[in-house]
Amino acid sequence: MSTFDYAPALESTAIVSIAERYGLFINGKFVAPKSGKYFPTINPATEKVLAKIASANSADVDLAVAAARAAYVKVWSKMPAAERGKYLFRIARIIQERSREFAVLESLDNGKPIRESRDTDIPLAAAHFFYHAGWADKLQYSGNGASPKPLGVVGQIIPWNFPMLMLAWKVAPALATGNTVVLKPAETTSLTALLFAEVCQQAGLPEGVVNIITGAGGTGALLVNHPGIDKVAFTGSTEVGKLIATSIAGSKKSATLELGGKAANIIYDDAAIDEAVEGIVNGIFFNQGHVCCAGSRLLVQENVHEEVLAKLKVRMGHIRLGNPLDKNTDIGAINSAAQLAKIKELSAAGDSEGAERWSAPCELPSQGFWFPPTIFTGVSQTHRIAREEIFGPVLSLLTFRTPQEAVEKANNTPYGLSAGIWTDKGSKILWTASKLRAGVIWANTFNKFDPASPFGGYKESGWGREGGRHGLSAYLKASN
Ligand code: ADP
Repeated sequence: MSTFDYAPALESTAIVSIAERYGLFINGKFVAPKSGKYFPTINPATEKVLAKIASANSADVDLAVAAARAAYVKVWSKMPAAERGKYLFRIARIIQERSREFAVLESLDNGKPIRESRDTDIPLAAAHFFYHAGWADKLQYSGNGASPKPLGVVGQIIPWNFPMLMLAWKVAPALATGNTVVLKPAETTSLTALLFAEVCQQAGLPEGVVNIITGAGGTGALLVNHPGIDKVAFTGSTEVGKLIATSIAGSKKSATLELGGKAANIIYDDAAIDEAVEGIVNGIFFNQGHVCCAGSRLLVQENVHEEVLAKLKVRMGHIRLGNPLDKNTDIGAINSAAQLAKIKELSAAGDSEGAERWSAPCELPSQGFWFPPTIFTGVSQTHRIAREEIFGPVLSLLTFRTPQEAVEKANNTPYGLSAGIWTDKGSKILWTASKLRAGVIWANTFNKFDPASPFGGYKESGWGREGGRHGLSAYLKASN
């Protein structure tokens, strides 16, 4: 034998059954959209149509909001908190029981590797329901006064990068605090939200507590602007976040906005370099780089930058790109043609502005949307690839000489969602973290998530926090 290679290890799709066409989930039932309109959702790894998804219009949004209001007034706000908690525990357990089904469906619809949907997205989604289930009857200890109250009906809009996990981040705290919801998944990744609707039915959740309406940005705008909602919870681009902030200004609606990022991952010269290289790879190539908190700006101390770059290129050469359903795959498909075009456009700007591009040698499948793991060197702070969110597997390397310079460069961004620090010295971690304007800072690790840990950004990365005690406050009216 002259070469060693992995044998294919394909996850079977037999566990999921995908309907030809999906309606909207309103008041506990799947119903045909009043709009009469449907659009296709495709598998980005093959470009094959998976199913037709309903496109909700304003009449559909009216029905969903009315169902959520009725459920809030008649059932959910009156139910003893411990009973509410039981539903959340039940949902969490069903997600665990059906985790393989969810993971396969997520990888089919989103393009992410099964290893990630199976080991990260779905377990964390279940963990969010378990965590919030525990809070449901303990809200008086959440730091919001002796008798905090829910807000009412919440309109929730989520993106396509972690469809089921973002649903859990939104739905679990809303329900635990006694609110009812109308949720709109992203138009390219609605399938796991629709499977979650089945979970709500299976858990016997009272009708109308969770409503799921599908459609594109226009449907999202109808939900945001609907007079019947009390709060908007949004995760997505800064561009749409700004539109939402503008459109709810002057209304009584509150909002949490979790938007873009351009995180610095800072490598000091005393860091454990091999570990840091793993952290860099995890920071930017996890989920194809479709991560708002991705470590997309690599800041390396100048005296070790050649060593880091050499090791990083070797490591990137071992990343396996391909079929998302293969258990050996590290990088799956880019979620959509539009996103691929955006990644290509920004990368081309990197070339034309004078940075140097290196992509790991790998064969790209002929069907579907793919981009190889890529690093740009010779990047300056003014380059678009150092300033704009690429949301793809593209890393920009910059160097620094002193800790002060690292901090200045790290903070030189309109965003402030996350950052990473790699060093052997605890004191340097604390000093650097205290100077960084970022909502989440990882030290000697990256992209670690826990339901108990609040997540959110400074500046154009958004408003408010999700997760932990802080996340509960965003769904409660505080009392004395
Ligand atoms: P991305 O760049 O990650 O696709 P978007 O902000 O465009 O992010 O999309 C995130 C979510 O916001 C999706 O569910 C999308 O349909 C929705 N959306 C897009 N435009 C609007 C809008 N004007 N109002 C409300 N929701 C929107």
